[in-house]
Amino acid sequence: MRIPLIALLSGVLVSTLLAGTAGAAVSTGELAPVPTGKTALTANPIYKTGRLEPDACPEQPVYNDDLETAETYLSFALDCLNEGWEYQFSKTKLPFSKPKFVITTRIGVQTGCGKFPKGAQAVYCSLNKKITFYLDKGILSQATELFLLQTLAHEYGHHVQQLSGILPTVFKRKYKNDKQYLPELRKVELQAECLSGAFIGSIWRSLGRRESDFRYVLNAAYSTASHGTTKSIAYWVTRGFQQESPGACNTFSAPKSRVT
Ligand SMILES: [Zn+2]
Repeated sequence: MRIPLIALLSGVLVSTLLAGTAGAAVSTGELAPVPTGKTALTANPIYKTGRLEPDACPEQPVYNDDLETAETYLSFALDCLNEGWEYQFSKTKLPFSKPKFVITTRIGVQTGCGKFPKGAQAVYCSLNKKITFYLDKGILSQATELFLLQTLAHEYGHHVQQLSGILPTVFKRKYKNDKQYLPELRKVELQAECLSGAFIGSIWRSLGRRESDFRYVLNAAYSTASHGTTKSIAYWVTRGFQQESPGACNTFSAPKSRVT
């Protein structure tokens, strides 16, 4: 039974306690300052870096219902993400650092932005730049699907947003209410989906997957107010996947109809 698992697949962006993290760029040597304000969102230097060009990135063997191979699988995938995105950042001169990464088998662990929330598969905390990944029975039962990689690449997308000044800008703004805040959060989430698609697209040839694997992930997209409709999610993941570039992922300049 797959349907109930789908709810767990949506990565939750932990957005609490973010005051004071904006614009914390330490510019040394040749490094460029991290953009802020509207520039960070709509004209970010990361959009102009062209295609992602990671080295070949074959998936490690992974079996359903097996924690150990899933852990190894994810740590290799993380290496690929680090390598690919570090090179991408070097094209911008923006400072790059790797995210911290923790795997947990129970909800409730500390993420750095509060306890790991029920219903999430993985979270990114911008305070400590840490991805916490929940390997529960549900996702382990389909560990051979693309979900593991896609979810990790999505959370890594939030890390990219953090380093490029996008998250700090969104979190620094003042919102009167959820009605104002949710559309912005949705652009953040849809962008992370697109960034995950861009990364997967860029390593697709070395994955040895079938197109149906990719479609399965698209079809399983789970719609929420903060993550967008299934239609929007599929649009942005596919757009990233086809263009293999963060330049495809400017949700902040997209027409409203694309970020519902
Ligand atoms: Zn997210």
